Amino acid sequence: MNDISKQNIEALIKLQEAETQIVRLKAVLEKVKKKRGELSAKLKLFGNALEEKKENLSTAVMNCKDSEREIQIVDDRIIKSNETLRMVKTQKEYQVLLREVDDNKKRKDVFETELLEYFDVKEEIQESVQESEKEYNLLKEQIETEQKDIEKKSTDDRELLEEYLTQQNEIGKNLDSSLMTQFAKISKMNQGLAVVNVKNEICMGCFMNIPPQLYIEVQRGNSLILCPQCSRILYHIDVESV
Ligand SMILES: [Zn+2]
Repeated sequence: MNDISKQNIEALIKLQEAETQIVRLKAVLEKVKKKRGELSAKLKLFGNALEEKKENLSTAVMNCKDSEREIQIVDDRIIKSNETLRMVKTQKEYQVLLREVDDNKKRKDVFETELLEYFDVKEEIQESVQESEKEYNLLKEQIETEQKDIEKKSTDDRELLEEYLTQQNEIGKNLDSSLMTQFAKISKMNQGLAVVNVKNEICMGCFMNIPPQLYIEVQRGNSLILCPQCSRILYHIDVESV
């Protein structure tokens, strides 16, 4: 059993407090980073869907214009045929032109029906785009506010993390290097929890009973005692009396 001073035990306890906070804050910041990523991705996904709708709207507008142009062309042809019709000399020519006019009128009907359909589609998409735009702007605003809140909180957490890292460094400088190495080793094996209290003969790291004789030694607090089950460094502070 290594004899160590009470100051060393106290330093180890402080080191553990810092370590626990560091582990906690790192986890919080990691979670925050993930959350921020998720929010950005959500907005991007919505933005992409909106862009797609806008592209569909462009296509719909183009289809309408194409149809209108076709109608115009057919109209022009009908007018031209009608003008020619007045100047024809033979019955045969007359018949041909008449059929031409008739055919063009039928084509015009088809285009007009088509235009109506395109127009309906365009209106529908236009409405959907307007709705999505509103939703997108709302979502954007909401996400930006949320990101700002997160950022503000993260700044606090990052500052706190820096403080604990400095504290950890300071304690490390004053602590015996072999104790520091031991702490680091135990900490690594136990997800950052290396120094634990013993309460009513129970190790607060693994929640197993420790032998009464060992408990007495832990209570004395002048030697380095490890939990027989989980190998964590043990100390004793009566929580109620603190
Ligand atoms: Zn234990």
